[in-house]
Amino acid sequence: MTVRPDSSSAPVASRLLTADIAIVGAGAAGLATAIFTRRADRPPSVVLLEGAKRPGAKILVSGGGRCNVANARVEAADFSGGRRVPIGRILGGFPPERTVAFFRELGVPLHAEEEGKLFPDSNRSRDVLDALLGEIDAVGARLLTGQRVLDVVPCGDRFRVQTPTMAVDARRVVLATGGRSLPKSGSDGAGLEIARRLGHTIVPTTPALTPLLLADADPLHRELSGVSQPVALSIWIDGVRARRLYGPLLWTHFGVSGPVALDASRHYLRAELERRPVRLTLNFCGGAAFDEIDRLWIDRARARPTASIAATLASIVPASVAEALLRRLSIEGCTTLAHAGRDARRRLAHALDAWPLPVAGARGYNFAEATAGGVDLAEIDPSSMESRIRPGLFLVGEMLDADGRLGGFNFQWAWATARMAAAALAAR
Ligand SMILES: Cc1cc2nc3c(=O)[nH]c(=O)nc-3n(C[C@H](O)[C@H](O)[C@H](O)COP(=O)(O)OP(=O)(O)OC[C@H]3O[C@@H](n4cnc5c(N)ncnc54)[C@H](O)[C@@H]3O)c2cc1C
Repeated sequence: MTVRPDSSSAPVASRLLTADIAIVGAGAAGLATAIFTRRADRPPSVVLLEGAKRPGAKILVSGGGRCNVANARVEAADFSGGRRVPIGRILGGFPPERTVAFFRELGVPLHAEEEGKLFPDSNRSRDVLDALLGEIDAVGARLLTGQRVLDVVPCGDRFRVQTPTMAVDARRVVLATGGRSLPKSGSDGAGLEIARRLGHTIVPTTPALTPLLLADADPLHRELSGVSQPVALSIWIDGVRARRLYGPLLWTHFGVSGPVALDASRHYLRAELERRPVRLTLNFCGGAAFDEIDRLWIDRARARPTASIAATLASIVPASVAEALLRRLSIEGCTTLAHAGRDARRRLAHALDAWPLPVAGARGYNFAEATAGGVDLAEIDPSSMESRIRPGLFLVGEMLDADGRLGGFNFQWAWATARMAAAALAAR
């Protein structure tokens, strides 16, 4: 049941509702918590307060309008942030098969695409959101939109949830306010401040899954804007290769985007936050080592001595990339492999192995698909999502210190945390 605040006949400033459970935020995690809780045998009363006029903005824009609802295979290793043990425990309570079954029941069958990404058969995120909102009505949860929660104040063993025009007196409160990504959707970090006031530690946040800006001194990215290519991207922290990620990279007018750059962004930004020296390099040969790449050129020179360096390089990387790299290395592309000297060959092998990406920053929360950092997971009981600091308070979804890689993992986190909280809420 969706109710706009102005649809009430009660004097606005004096409205006070009483409920067993107040949920703050009607994104993926809040909606799912309300549904799962109300499906219990003896369902508690649930009021869901959403600051935006329309709930579920991020569901609508997700997956390029197709909503990558989950992934067919989800493990704690797909997440960063808090410790893996509690993350794994939470995910284990609601594996992807149950997400598939849940959405099938809601009339939204899912199918798997490359790398296990699960999408609705209709390829419409609108269908995902409509199904969730339809179920909110069906289970009898009360959804109030345009009700931005200003604070949650403990009153004895209950809570007072305050908006500018009304208050809800509830036995339990679920915070589901998201992180800071895409703040115009309503998730601007205000919920994290509410959690902080309730005694929680907030692990400093950075954008995650956000495009990276490159320095303009030598704007290779501008020259290659629009070109996509598979790469192995290394993240070097404190001089050591901390991670290597594989996948498509998209060159853009501002820097780099595409799955591998988005996945790298949180690691880069966390290292910067911790003031640790960090740099990124690209390997254009599927992660092959320098010696293997050098050997490849020697073998090719033997097999096809009359082939040009440019033509040979263009069989490894897109032609525009080949041209741009050779120009920067001052290597004549028309030289045949037979005439290419050892020095040129080795410089080329170095470039293909570890091309430096001069990262100058990131596009920030406005372009981020997730938030790294958030409410410290160590302060949450992973078997119930209840706060260890403030009994009766539950926290779910992106506002927690766990962020998934690209591929449906963040929504799966929202569903799994919601299911865990709902089971505990319904049991009490
Ligand atoms: C462009 C984009 C594309 C994405 N695509 C995918 C994808 O395909 N697959 C995937 O797995 N993940 C994707 N994500 C990530 C995914 O959308 C989020 O991880 C997920 O929506 C988090 O759900 P949540 O309910 O925790 O938070 P949110 O979806 O952020 O919802 C929080 C809700 O709380 C409300 N709120 C906040 N503060 C208050 C307050 N004080 N009072 C009342 N209400 C409040 C907000 O208005 C919002 O409706 C994408 C994100 C973006 C930005």
